[in-house]
Amino acid sequence: MPELPEVETIKLGLQKYLVGRKIDKVEVRLSKIVQGDIKNIEGAKIIGIRRFGKGLVIDLDNKNSIAAHIKLTGQFIYRGPETKKIKLSPKVGGGLPNSRTHVIFKLKSQNAKAEEESGTYLYYNDLRQFGWIKIIETSKLNDVSFFRDMGPEPFKDLTLEIFNKIISSSNTSVKPLIMDQKKIGGIGNIYANDALYDAGIDPERKAKSLSEREIKKLYESILKILKFSLKIGGASELNFVNALGEEGKYQNHSLVYGRAGQKCKRCGGIIKKIFLGGRGTYSCSACQK
Ligand SMILES: [Zn+2]
Repeated sequence: MPELPEVETIKLGLQKYLVGRKIDKVEVRLSKIVQGDIKNIEGAKIIGIRRFGKGLVIDLDNKNSIAAHIKLTGQFIYRGPETKKIKLSPKVGGGLPNSRTHVIFKLKSQNAKAEEESGTYLYYNDLRQFGWIKIIETSKLNDVSFFRDMGPEPFKDLTLEIFNKIISSSNTSVKPLIMDQKKIGGIGNIYANDALYDAGIDPERKAKSLSEREIKKLYESILKILKFSLKIGGASELNFVNALGEEGKYQNHSLVYGRAGQKCKRCGGIIKKIFLGGRGTYSCSACQK
């Protein structure tokens, strides 16, 4: 599932291309994806894009917002005059719109010429159809449990002090804990695996058995891995593409994630895979204690 770096990558792209444009018309092709009344957003101007953990919020100038979660395979792809020459990844599933396109936002900019207007769209694609889009008053975002219940986030409000409290007060294994969105927002399976490897910590360790030094190392590893992934456009596992329909590169650099049976990059030992909390968990027994 796309995690913080992937959703942040989409956010940065949408910020660049959507802010200042108006939503002219919305076409919903698969009704289960969208909740709320599209009439509340048609004609409104996009004033900002925010990310909360793995969730996105598009804010409008009429006190409404479009809140979205792309879940496993959702894609927000902008196509406009400035991006016509950009080649879409095969993960988009062909030209746009295509059979995976479930919502089409036709966009308009105030001073653009008519011919520029004809081809300016934001497409929502979703192969597995687990994602959601909610049209909601901006002031009521916290009524959506996803936003209300989210824990503090790396790069935002997750300080070392708060992280220390979360880790040292929990009796569960450290890996499922750092992936629990109600405890910490934005970290999923890829970066939990790689951050624990980077910090030299066994994913099965009880969280509260970590020393203060280990907690600090893990905190730093999480920030380091997320920052690196963001720099190279996130991980294009499954169907992730950025707001222009291009793939990220983290999957070519993962430390242990997805590398079962391959050599540890540090000691040359073999990376093992177990299931922990139902999720594939990769580690090197020699390097992670
Ligand atoms: Zn190793």
